[in-house]
Amino acid sequence: MRPLFRILLMLILPFMSGAQERCMTNGASAGRETIRNGSGSGEMSGEIVIPVVVHVIWRTSVENISDDQIRSQIDALNADFSLRNADFSKVPAVFAGKAAEAGIRFVLATADPQGRPTNGIIRKNTTAQLWINDDRIKKTSAGGSDPWDSRQYLNIWVGNLSSTLIGFSTFPGAPADKDGIVIRYNAFGTRGTLSPPFDRGRTLTHETGHWLGLQHLWGDSPCGDDGVEDTPRQRTGNRGIPQFPRLNTGCENGPNGDMFMNFMDFSDDRSLLMFTKGQADRMRAQFQTGGPRHTLLQSRGAAEPWNLNADIVPGLTKTSQVYPNPATQNIRIRTSGPLPKDYEIIDASGRMVTGGKLNGTDPLIDIGQLKPGTYHLRLGNTVIRWIKGG
Ligand SMILES: [Zn+2]
Repeated sequence: MRPLFRILLMLILPFMSGAQERCMTNGASAGRETIRNGSGSGEMSGEIVIPVVVHVIWRTSVENISDDQIRSQIDALNADFSLRNADFSKVPAVFAGKAAEAGIRFVLATADPQGRPTNGIIRKNTTAQLWINDDRIKKTSAGGSDPWDSRQYLNIWVGNLSSTLIGFSTFPGAPADKDGIVIRYNAFGTRGTLSPPFDRGRTLTHETGHWLGLQHLWGDSPCGDDGVEDTPRQRTGNRGIPQFPRLNTGCENGPNGDMFMNFMDFSDDRSLLMFTKGQADRMRAQFQTGGPRHTLLQSRGAAEPWNLNADIVPGLTKTSQVYPNPATQNIRIRTSGPLPKDYEIIDASGRMVTGGKLNGTDPLIDIGQLKPGTYHLRLGNTVIRWIKGG
């Protein structure tokens, strides 16, 4: 075959095969030598909490996944990172003994980088039809969404990735404007718009492993090494639902074979079940003093919002008002634009206290049950501050 033609085929074939690529995160630049697990000072102890912001970049309504779908993903991620995943019992005993909880918890941000109330979800309508594993989805100027300060937040972008790709991530040490994880909208969460077999939230668990410094089990080379002692070598990534023991000739990993149920393999969601102790240590080591994820420990992104003075949070029409203000029984909305379908009322600590559907053009919201105090009414991306009187 002529060289040029061969190169063209190599470029085209992956897209023609129809096979879904579990992950296009390439471990070659991970720099695993820079992390020394448990070395000396700064040993991590206690639970690590990471504020998360999810950027939903949508063109069609099906891509605009619900808040509930997003919450189902955060719940699944936390279950996987704390060994509370209900399907852990399927791990063969020889490997279950190596499993460990990472002691890392992920929460949707409650305060944005300016300290204003947020639910940790950004929604952006785009004209872009498809995203690939470049960084355009991370740029507002390219139809995506700029990250929040990645030293303070884990940025996750959800969008319509090309059909062969369901997720990719940066490794620790990536440039701040590219740092984060990208997941296809129908491989995100456990409820909502999902495409089996990527319907248990494990794409994000896997990519978060990369984001915290983990490599694929085979180190992206045949029988390669992932730099973690308690994961056996294996020839390459597994697909589908492997059966135990999964033996590969040549890697001398018998009699137990591949740890195909490790989150850093490529098996289907229902087969990915655990991290090892070595992997958990490696992820936590990123947060040591001087480590690439250390700044997240000082983030206020999961704290109570401290900037409640801004009457209107950006994105929004300055003409939107809540009236009467203060109010005691009901509020109405005055706005120049069309009203969204839903509303949320957020208290001064950033928690959503009530919400629902807006009916008609001049809806009345009953706030009689709320305690007196300062609240925010969220309408889509608009947040309006108002006061419940006594
Ligand atoms: Zn991967």
